[in-house]
Amino acid sequence: MANYYCKWCGQKYSSVLSLTSHSCSKNPNGKKHELYEGSEKSKYTCKWCGQQYSSILSLTSHSCSKNPNGKKHEPAL
Ligand SMILES: [Zn+2]
Ligand SMILES: [Zn+2]
Repeated sequence: MANYYCKWCGQKYSSVLSLTSHSCSKNPNGKKHELYEGSEKSKYTCKWCGQQYSSILSLTSHSCSKNPNGKKHEPAL
């Protein structure tokens, strides 16, 4: 079974449908989780600063000094 992750908070769901129907506390643009469209990896890189984390969850919980739109790291695809 595939896992789907929210690109803003890293929360994991078993379907895109359930992911997008729950609200996300870290989405700066809206209220719902949004699908991370990259593949599952052993390391995730922030697209703004290049810092690496072992999960989207930990990546998105740290603030990024180079992100112009928000305060947290965002995963590169
Ligand atoms: Zn989320
Ligand atoms: Zn960053």
